[in-house]
Order: sequence, then structure tokens, then C-alpha cells
Amino acid sequence: MSNGIHHVTAISGPARRNLGFYAGILGLRLVKKTVNFDDPGTYHFYYGDEAGHPGTLLTFFPWETASKGQVGTGETFETAFRVPAAAIGYWAQRFVEKGVAHETPARRFGEPVLSFRDPDGMRLALVGVAGAESEPGREAADIPAEMAIRGFHSVTLLIEDAQPTGGILADVFGFAETASEGTTVRYQVAGEGQGGIVDLRVAPGFPRGNLGAASVHHVAFRAADDAAQAAMVERLVANHGLRTTRQKDRAYFRSVYFHEPNGVLFEIATDVPGFAVDEPLAGLGQSLKLPAFLEPRRATLERVLPDLG
Ligand code: ZN
Repeated sequence: MSNGIHHVTAISGPARRNLGFYAGILGLRLVKKTVNFDDPGTYHFYYGDEAGHPGTLLTFFPWETASKGQVGTGETFETAFRVPAAAIGYWAQRFVEKGVAHETPARRFGEPVLSFRDPDGMRLALVGVAGAESEPGREAADIPAEMAIRGFHSVTLLIEDAQPTGGILADVFGFAETASEGTTVRYQVAGEGQGGIVDLRVAPGFPRGNLGAASVHHVAFRAADDAAQAAMVERLVANHGLRTTRQKDRAYFRSVYFHEPNGVLFEIATDVPGFAVDEPLAGLGQSLKLPAFLEPRRATLERVLPDLG
């Protein structure tokens, strides 16, 4: 089975600052430097583990002059990464040294959680997971491998009503309701470590969000291949009365999109072909990659894209 979160895509402020934070402070690997296929004067950065596996991918559209978004219902409230439980203290110390805005470590669903913000104010967290220390970690920046981030822990969606969203997570994406705490209901994919949790935080009457810098644009869920994706699309129509967009070729995966009933934009992305399709694994993220239809515009795009320093 390949279920769970495939990637999370967010909007950020300046590209150079975004790169400095996610690669330089969090130690994620930039696995692809490309452009927004729908707005090619804007970068699209993909950060992930060594190979950019589904379940580790946080991606950004950096807008140099973006105004800040307003978090609200119908949106992702927080994006959380997994670290070994013993690494929480290391990260709290690192955030102090690097001037990263963060809160005192707390506990959620029995696990230690360190909440923090990126330079745009995006809500992030590190969750200490028992057993994550035995998974491979990537030594990067000045972070030892044993402290490194091990992909996504979860996303928390802020919604009016858990029932219809939970129904789709369970019926279409292979999640099951496993726990609740306060106003949050947890959905989880059995046996899936990275990206296997979606928390639904119910906030009836809370204002709806506005997209801008620090907002998550959409959450993508995994489908092994085109056939698995097509089966999910059929279930959405048959059991939930929801239609998706036509399939779009995103070069590294193929995608369909739909708004779930609480308004959160969901995507279904295939695990194939992956990030080594247009450059070798060792060199991921080092040069600007463009889809074939944009190659004729490369010189112009390289002139207009922001300087990364
Ligand atoms: Zn996406």
C-alpha cells in the first residue's frame, strides 16, 4: 500500500529566505528547483529527504512581494515533521541559537511537540516519534544525522465539521479514525510512518482563511500510479458526489485536484515517476529544471526569476 500524505504545498515570501530556512536551518534537501508550471515567473521549490520520497515533500511557491495570509477554516493550520523523540531538546536549542520563533515543548496525543514558525510566520511543528531514531536520517547543514527530520508527521486541518472530511480520508485515502483529543480528531494510515496522520481540528464559526505568504495552498495524498488514482477519483464521484480536475502532468508526479467539503484544496498525486526523472539523484535540486513546454523560454525565465544568492 502507498497511502498517506504525498506532499504539502505552501506560499512563501522571498525565495532566497525560504531556501535559507528550509535547507540551512531545518536541513531538508532541495530536491527540485523548478518553476510554477501555471505561473512560470515564480519558482517552485521542493524540499524532502535524500530522494524526495512521497511523505517527505514540502513545496513552496515563493512570491517576492506576497502579503501574509490569514489562517482560518478551510485551510491547513499546521504542518508537522517527525524527529526522533530524543531530538526535541536539540531542536529547541537550535531554534534559540538561530533565532527561530518557537514555543515551549508540549505534548499532544502522548508525543512531545515543538511548535515553531518559519520566517513568513507559517505554523510548523516537530513531533518526537518513538522509533524514528532507527530510520535513516540525512546529515545536512550542521545537523547530525541522528537529529535530522524524518519526513512528515501530520497536517492539522482547521474545519467546521469533521464528518465529511473524515469520510473522504477513510473511504478514499485509506485512513482510519484512531484517537481524539480536545477538539481534534486524528486519522491515521496503518503502518505508514511518514505522512501517515491527518488531524482534523474542529472550529465551528471560526472565520475562513485567506491565502497569502505562510498559507498552505493544498495537501496532496498518495496514489501508487495512474490506476490507483483513477480508482480514487471514481470513489469520490460515486460515494461523495465530488468531481476532480482533469489529470495534470507535474513532471515528477501526475495530479488531480478537488476541494473537500470543508473547503480545503486536496490533490491526489502519483508516486511515479519521482524526482530522478530529469536529473541524477546525486545532483537533485542544483540546477533549474523546466518541463519541455517551458524550455524555449529558459533564457527569459532565468532573467526574471529572483536571485538566490
Ligand atoms: Zn501539489
